[in-house]
Amino acid sequence: MNKFDIIIIGGGLSGSSTALNLSKKGYSVLILEKEVSKKINPCAGGMASSMKKFLPLNIDEAIESRIRYVEFRWKASDNVIADLSEESPFWIVRREKLDQLLLEESTKYGAEILMPATVERITKQNSEWIIEISNKHKFKSRYIVIADGSESKWSSYLNLGPKKPKFANTLSLRINGLGDISYNSVRFEFGFIKYGFAWAFPLKGSLNIGLGTFINNTLLQNEELNNTVIKSFGFEDLFFKKIRKKLRIWNGFHKIHGEGVVVVGDAASLCDPFLAEGIRPSLISSFYAAESIDKCLSSNTNDLSSYSKNINNEWGKSMAWGRRIAEIFYRFPRTGYQLGVKRKTAPKRIAQILSGEMTYEDIAKRVIKRLLMRKERES
Ligand SMILES: Cc1cc2nc3c(=O)[nH]c(=O)nc-3n(C[C@H](O)[C@H](O)[C@H](O)COP(=O)(O)OP(=O)(O)OC[C@H]3O[C@@H](n4cnc5c(N)ncnc54)[C@H](O)[C@@H]3O)c2cc1C
Repeated sequence: MNKFDIIIIGGGLSGSSTALNLSKKGYSVLILEKEVSKKINPCAGGMASSMKKFLPLNIDEAIESRIRYVEFRWKASDNVIADLSEESPFWIVRREKLDQLLLEESTKYGAEILMPATVERITKQNSEWIIEISNKHKFKSRYIVIADGSESKWSSYLNLGPKKPKFANTLSLRINGLGDISYNSVRFEFGFIKYGFAWAFPLKGSLNIGLGTFINNTLLQNEELNNTVIKSFGFEDLFFKKIRKKLRIWNGFHKIHGEGVVVVGDAASLCDPFLAEGIRPSLISSFYAAESIDKCLSSNTNDLSSYSKNINNEWGKSMAWGRRIAEIFYRFPRTGYQLGVKRKTAPKRIAQILSGEMTYEDIAKRVIKRLLMRKERES
């Protein structure tokens, strides 16, 4: 049975970046990925450029547009445009390319990748993990990283993360052409989707369109409404392949480490419950997961608790506010749009959030106070 320092379950963004962080430190790493290759990843690819500090490689090849303007609309009108300044703090990456770059770079540092390899059984003997894949092959390691995404089976099996994960429902498509979106702009469209919103993020010559709802998904089944939204981005031909995906969203502070195991990315329920941002927490969790495992392996200890602590501090605190904002904003979206987006100072704040300069925690108290005062005046 082949033995590794670390086995990573899932070769998506968080699995591949954890693999690169660890293989760069000289550890033997095996990635087990159930898909052979990714066709189109539904991820729209929007990410803060400030995440460079958590990226273990240069990703220029995967960046397809550098965003200067963020446009917000309410039912295809009432526009607000935020200028992100000339430094383009927001990028659109092609996710298939980004994951591929990370995987390739990991192999340069010695990581091994097995695909297709669906993990079917995880057991522990003494202090070693035994991982069995679908063809009954077994592998051993001292540490495992659970990176099997939003449909994660293994996080709950190991009692890590929320007992009852909360999901957003998404529908996405990639369309050739940019419709009426400019190459250096992204658009957020509110008002059409109940308890959610739609987005259009440009790649080179194509557009990632998405619809997301944070409370229920009945509206995403409504083809007429979906088509209205797609048309609002400037498209007439509506026969596109649509991908539906559930996205695990942040749902409270939880332990995401155990003895010899950490959970990263979507599997750890880290997606932003307001805007569904998941690239940033995937990269942050991969970074801290690798740091904690490295500490244990290099000092021959086994306390991974610094990982949960770091994630709860660095990400969770802001998400707790993001969840509160989402609850109020999506319940009273018209008021939320008027007070949260149409205010004079809003474009600057939005730019600061998207670029990672400001957290929800920084702005939440102000926003919530404003919304509550307005509701009181109205009732
Ligand atoms: C429509 C949509 C749009 C989005 N847009 C954005 C955006 O613009 N910006 C942003 O920041 N975030 C966005 N996100 C969120 C972002 O895509 C996710 O947060 C990110 O992909 C999480 O990466 P991950 O590696 O944790 O999970 P994934 O990328 O889902 O990877 C998990 C991997 O595990 C593999 N796997 C699963 N089970 C097993 C098993 N048993 N054995 C082996 N392998 C297994 C899967 O095949 C998969 O490759 C979007 C999400 C959706 C659905």
